[in-house]
Amino acid sequence: MPDFAVLGGGLCGRLVAWRLAGAGHRVALYERGGPEGGESAAWIAAAMLAPLAEAAVAELLITELGVASLETWPRILAELPEPVFFQRNGTLVVWHHADRTEAPLFERRVRANAPRALADANFTTLVGAQIDAAEPALAGRFARGWLLAGEGQLDNRQALAALAAGLAQRGVQTHWHTSVEDTSLPRARVTIDCRGLGAKPALPALRGIRGEVARVHAPGIGLTRPVRLLHPRYPLYIAPKQDDLYVIGATEIEGEDRSPVSVRSALELLSAAFAVHPAFGEARILELNSQCRPTLPDHRPALIWDGGQGDGRGGSTTLRVNGLYRHGFMIAPAVADEAVRVAEAMLAGQLADADAFESLRRESRWASMLHAPQGAHEPA
Ligand SMILES: Cc1cc2nc3c(=O)[nH]c(=O)nc-3n(C[C@H](O)[C@H](O)[C@H](O)COP(=O)(O)OP(=O)(O)OC[C@H]3O[C@@H](n4cnc5c(N)ncnc54)[C@H](O)[C@@H]3O)c2cc1C
Repeated sequence: MPDFAVLGGGLCGRLVAWRLAGAGHRVALYERGGPEGGESAAWIAAAMLAPLAEAAVAELLITELGVASLETWPRILAELPEPVFFQRNGTLVVWHHADRTEAPLFERRVRANAPRALADANFTTLVGAQIDAAEPALAGRFARGWLLAGEGQLDNRQALAALAAGLAQRGVQTHWHTSVEDTSLPRARVTIDCRGLGAKPALPALRGIRGEVARVHAPGIGLTRPVRLLHPRYPLYIAPKQDDLYVIGATEIEGEDRSPVSVRSALELLSAAFAVHPAFGEARILELNSQCRPTLPDHRPALIWDGGQGDGRGGSTTLRVNGLYRHGFMIAPAVADEAVRVAEAMLAGQLADADAFESLRRESRWASMLHAPQGAHEPA
C-alpha cells in the first residue's frame, strides 16, 4: 500500500506527488484525464507569476505566497527532466486614455494590499519614451504605464508535461484516466485530495469561476513580458510565451459553465489584443478555451485536515488542498511545501488530535491556510 494517494493530477496534485516522491515516500496519483493535463484548470491558465500585479485583487497572504513561490519555481524547474519556459522580466501595466480612471484605483489597491517594501522597490512609473524603451514593440502606443519588476511567468503546458515526466522519474504510480469519487477512495495511509473543482462533493463551499482565454500565434510582434491592460470590467493580459505564442485572457465570470467561449468574450479578448498592438489583427487563433478556477468563499487557498488517523487499514486520513482560484501557478510551490509538511506529519501519526494540529498550525508561516475539522478550531 502506498504512503500517499494523491487525487487529481492537475497543477497541485502533480507538484505535491512529485515533492513527496522526492522525499522518499511511496506515492500513487489518480487523475481523471491524461498525462498532458487537459482536464485541469492548469491547462488553460496563462501561468503568470505576478504577486504585485495580483495584489490589486488579492490580499497579503496571496502576495506573500506568490513572492515565496517565485523564488522556488526556478529550483523546481531545474530538477524536472524536461525544459519549461520560465521568465522573470516583470509585468508591464498600461491603459487606454478612456480607461485612465482605472489607473489610480489599481495603484491604490496594489499599494494597500502588498507589503510596502515590495511595492516601493518594484513599482516603477514609466512615461512616454520610458515605455518605448522598456517594451519597444509598444513604442508610441501608450502615454503612461507601470513596470512591475521581477514578476514572472512560465509555460503552463510545458510545466504539466515536465511534472508528468518528473513523476515517472521518481517512481510515482500514476493512474491516468481514473476518476476517484469520495465513496471509493484508493487504499493508502494518507489521501491528499487535489481535485480542484472536482472535490466539490467533499467541499460544498467550493465554487467555480469561469475564465476564458485565447491562444494566438503572432510572429513579428515581439512582446518581451506579460502586458496587463487596465479595463473597467476585468483585468486583461497578453502573456507572450515561446515561439510567438500569446495567451490572451481572461474573463472572470461566476459559475461553473464549461461551455465554449462566448462570442462576446472572444470579441473582448481579441479586441483588447488588437488595441494593444494592431499586428494582432494578423495573428492566427490557435484556440479559444474556457475552464473554471477552483475557489473557496474567502478566495484563499486552504489545507483542510479531516481529523482522521492514517492507520493503514483502508480508512485513511485525508488532507484537502484546494481554493487556488486565479493564483494556482503563482502560489503552488509554497502551498505544496506546506501540504507536504502537513501530509508528512499525518503519515508519521503526529496529528493525534486537534491540539497537535493546532501546534503544527502555530509553527506555520501560512497558519491562516490550515484548517482542522469544523469545531476543532476557528480559522484565523
Ligand atoms: C482562464 C484561467 C487563467 C488562469 N491564469 C492563471 C495565471 O496567470 N496565473 C496563475 O497563477 N494561475 C492562473 N490560473 C489559475 C490556475 O490554473 C489554478 O489556480 C490551478 O490550476 C489550480 O490547481 P489545482 O491543481 O487545484 O486544480 P486543477 O489544475 O484544476 O487540477 C485538478 C485536477 O483534478 C482532476 N480531477 C477532478 N476531479 C477528479 C476526480 N474525481 N478523480 C480524479 N481526478 C479528478 C482534474 O481532472 C484536474 O486535472 C488560471 C485559471 C484559469 C481558468
